[in-house]
Amino acid sequence: MRYLSLLFLSFFILPLMAMNSSATIVVMLGAPGSGKGTQAVQLSRELDLPHISTGDLFRENLKNHTPLGEEAARYMNQGQLVPDSLVLDMLFSRLQSQDTAKGYILDGFPRTIPQAETLAARLPKDACIVALSLEVPDEIIVERITGRLVCASCGAPYHAKNAPPKEEGICDRCGGKLQQRKDDTEEVVIERLKIFHAETEPLKEFYKSRAKLFLIDGTKSPSDVLNEAKQDIAKACSSN
Ligand code: AMP
Repeated sequence: MRYLSLLFLSFFILPLMAMNSSATIVVMLGAPGSGKGTQAVQLSRELDLPHISTGDLFRENLKNHTPLGEEAARYMNQGQLVPDSLVLDMLFSRLQSQDTAKGYILDGFPRTIPQAETLAARLPKDACIVALSLEVPDEIIVERITGRLVCASCGAPYHAKNAPPKEEGICDRCGGKLQQRKDDTEEVVIERLKIFHAETEPLKEFYKSRAKLFLIDGTKSPSDVLNEAKQDIAKACSSN
């Protein structure tokens, strides 16, 4: 038991603690539904870095009925990418916040080569940039996304088959109504996957040549994926 604790400490905790003061930027790559969001939330907690999801920022704008939210929704509901001009302004204004000084976890950004180039041009030279690509076959993605449900009141996530609520359509946590995101229907998911393969997947090559890229099998259990992600970040940034 003690040996296991020491092993855990030396492989996971010490390398993370050894990361020096230059910013750590984690870029989560992977298709919609590959688990980027789930992993980003955990990594954010464990590494104490803010989780920045462009999809969440758009949904927040939509909830508040801002012109940006209304404009973005026109693209999101059809599974299209929101134009770069809207994404970049919103993201860079978020990155001005003080809480990003030590780094951050990007979820859903960049999604195109021009977005990645714009980001690269703005990052400090000594930042440690790690790209983690969660690899999940398309068939599994479609099953995962079309079964996804979210509580309209508290945002708790469910899956109709894999993580159903106790009572159909009702949130276990707060009794709120469960609903499907407008862009989680099969028709829209197929469009999102097409765009992912055409526009976002080439980012693996981009990061392979410019940063540290790690491919992770996203069909493994969430805790295995998380452990691998932490090890990869430690490997990439501990000597930074
Ligand atoms: P997500 O929550 O990351 O799946 O994003 C939901 C939707 O928001 C996407 O399908 C796009 O329509 C839009 N979106 C989010 N991030 C970006 C981005 N970086 N570039 C363009 N559109 C985005």
